[in-house]
Amino acid sequence: MPTKITRIYRPTPTNLRRLAARLAGGGLVAVPSETVYGLAADALNPNACKAIFTAKGRPANDPLIVHIAHLRQLAELATDFPPEAKALANAFWPGPLTLVLRKTAAVPDIVTSGLPSVAVRMPAHPLFRKLIQLSGRPLAAPSANPFGYISPTTALHVKNGLSGHIAAILDGGPCPVGVESTIIDLRNPAKPVLLRPGGIPVEALASTLGRPVKVLQSRLHESTRAEAPGMLWKHYSPRTPLVLHEKIPASIWQSLPSGEVVLLQKKPAANLLTSIKAAGACLSWLSESGDTEEVAKNLFDALQRLDREAWTRIHAELAPTKKGLGPAINDRLIRAAAKS
Ligand code: AMP
Ligand code: MG
Repeated sequence: MPTKITRIYRPTPTNLRRLAARLAGGGLVAVPSETVYGLAADALNPNACKAIFTAKGRPANDPLIVHIAHLRQLAELATDFPPEAKALANAFWPGPLTLVLRKTAAVPDIVTSGLPSVAVRMPAHPLFRKLIQLSGRPLAAPSANPFGYISPTTALHVKNGLSGHIAAILDGGPCPVGVESTIIDLRNPAKPVLLRPGGIPVEALASTLGRPVKVLQSRLHESTRAEAPGMLWKHYSPRTPLVLHEKIPASIWQSLPSGEVVLLQKKPAANLLTSIKAAGACLSWLSESGDTEEVAKNLFDALQRLDREAWTRIHAELAPTKKGLGPAINDRLIRAAAKS
């Protein structure tokens, strides 16, 4: 039952102290990060973490990422920090990279869904870091949205999704990366495995490690779900039906039923735009140039906006590249369009 009054807080020093005290006392706060907004709680307090699952309607078999502000906080969470993890942390922390390591006994089972591993990230967002420092706690934080819905990249997205279920949202403006972190499993450091494409391209990880990174492919089987439980197939989903296209067919503009909208990766050339407008078709685009960082930054915001508008169907174009943030963009779009 939604019963709470949900307030959005501006990031004043007083509010930061107040929200940090709420976290230290076992409360929840929705926080901005460079990836998406997170719903944070003290990672070492099982009751606080349980409240995250309740507020989101998140199943207990989907573990949480733990966020730290300093490397010294890692010792409390992970039993070892292999050279491969050090190299990646050196290159990409603070930033949108999550490392899966062996966990210590201090990390509650509810955080890791009973797995012997823990997922850890050092975020770059100054407000998130400040709350970790002021609260003095590592913070568990999944995306601050109802489970399965589109991830939030503004404070308003959080409020629209979780109003009545949480009391506090810290407003840090729009998230600059716009997709979740890349997750790499380093439990066997000699054989790193990419569990989720995200804000750091896999080729950058491979280049830092000096070896290829195995990518978990396509639809996951039941047996691999325990390893990457958040990779449940249907996820990030708008309520409006979403249809994907490798490339938007040229014919679509003449035959698009009214009530349907097309979401392109980039702004069409001027002459095409003129003929689309002449045909009366509705469209939107994710970037001016097709740059994957710009597309990623705008992706969830565009899906949230189109889903609030009364379209009967959204046609979205997939990113045409496997480089940069292309795989992360397509992973989110494919899961958003999945039926189950
Ligand atoms: P999010 O829902 O964006 O917070 O991402 C959390 C995801 O991180 C989960 O859904 C899992 O895919 C992954 N994850 C978290 N903890 C672990 C872990 N201990 N082992 C493997 N994957 C994990
Ligand atoms: Mg999420």
